[in-house]
Amino acid sequence: PMTYDILIVGGGSAGISTAASLRKRNRKISIAVIDPAETHYYQPGWTLVGAGVFSPEQTRHSEASVIPKGVEWIKAAVTGFLPEQNQVQLADGRIVKYHVLVAAPGIKLAWDAIPGLAEALGSNGVTSNYRYDLAPYTYRLVREFRRGRALFTQPPMPIKCAGAPQKAMYLSCDIWSDARVLQDIDVEFHNAGAVLFGVPAYVPALKNYIERYGIDLRLESKLVAVDGQRKIATLERKTADGSTERIERSFDLLHAVPPQVAPEFVASSPLAGPGGFIEVDQATLQHVRYQNVFALGDVAGTSNAKTAAAARKQAPVVAVNALAVLEGKQPAADYNGYGSCPLTVERGKIVLAEFGYGGKLLPSFPTWLIDGTRPSRAAWFLKERLLPPIYWRGMLKGREWMVHPHLIEEPV
Ligand code: FAD
Repeated sequence: PMTYDILIVGGGSAGISTAASLRKRNRKISIAVIDPAETHYYQPGWTLVGAGVFSPEQTRHSEASVIPKGVEWIKAAVTGFLPEQNQVQLADGRIVKYHVLVAAPGIKLAWDAIPGLAEALGSNGVTSNYRYDLAPYTYRLVREFRRGRALFTQPPMPIKCAGAPQKAMYLSCDIWSDARVLQDIDVEFHNAGAVLFGVPAYVPALKNYIERYGIDLRLESKLVAVDGQRKIATLERKTADGSTERIERSFDLLHAVPPQVAPEFVASSPLAGPGGFIEVDQATLQHVRYQNVFALGDVAGTSNAKTAAAARKQAPVVAVNALAVLEGKQPAADYNGYGSCPLTVERGKIVLAEFGYGGKLLPSFPTWLIDGTRPSRAAWFLKERLLPPIYWRGMLKGREWMVHPHLIEEPV
């Protein structure tokens, strides 16, 4: 089997950024990325596709076009990790070997965990911005909606971009408000969590929009089944005495977000920690049992917000530390848990949540430019105009001066 100095599993946001960052730092080592996908998606754009602001095509490029020059692409799916042997197993039976492994295969959308949901999606008013092909359907439904009940649901944590379920709702309400039909629509937000957003500093601004749009907020209410034909959603909630209660709600529009879990081949591997995600040190992103293994992006079992913004900050940390281990040294760079969630509260304004481990606020901008706890036009401009090119031309190309001049706190 082939042996690579650094082998990266997953060519998504995290894997490609790491490959690019490694190439910028060292052109002599051999690097391969394993990914079966034909297409690389900019998933943060799907929220804007669902509101008719971006076209779907703006959020995709071929996988071939994002693989950095000098990096080999192995177009296959990994089915197993064999860290004792420094090997990964591919679906076609091949084995690939490495000196250092970087695991970044993302998180699994468990559509099937909600009976009826997978079959219902794409017709009868059932949609989700969590799928490329359905985000345009969200916009079509929202644009044509005049009266009735619209349900938006959010599953238990962890999910990628924890704000995305409510972003879809606020943008829909904004469209309905402009069309002067909002008063004829019952909007309900069924959130499996106990709070509107996990970091308290951003909650007041969001609560204002819940009130302004007249949204019926139901906390600890979890979607458990969908009947697309009859247009009925089943929701489960804990009652005060600790028992669970199920209610049925009829709907005319349902925006559902699926529960999310570690991919099976990860959860069943020696790399997994208790929750199925990869057990790495939360600062160095080095595996706690295998020194030559790193993980980043959504698959990492760290407590940061699972976002592309987190991957942007993690990639250079992993690149620096993986190169150190390759040279027989100790990891030197630390990740502070940064993640970001631009909450699109209306078309043209964003509440820009940026925070690290422990919910510590980590704003990238001075308050006079963007105060993250308030709706901001500058933050919308950032999301709509600046972040996409920063992603494609900065982050995926390893141009770190473009994406985070102040990134690695410790000089490395
Ligand atoms: P991904 O980018 O999902 O990439 C995983 C890659 O691994 C894929 O290419 C896949 O093909 C590959 N893979 C999977 N299985 C295997 C296997 N067995 N073998 C080999 N390769 C495999 N983030 C933000 O920062 N801001 C936002 O506003 C934002 N909004 C979002 C809105 C939505 C609707 C969604 C869905 C996500 C949003 N995110 C946002 C989250 C962001 O997209 C993810 O956190 C980010 O893509 C994580 O990067 P990743 O590389 O870990 O996973």
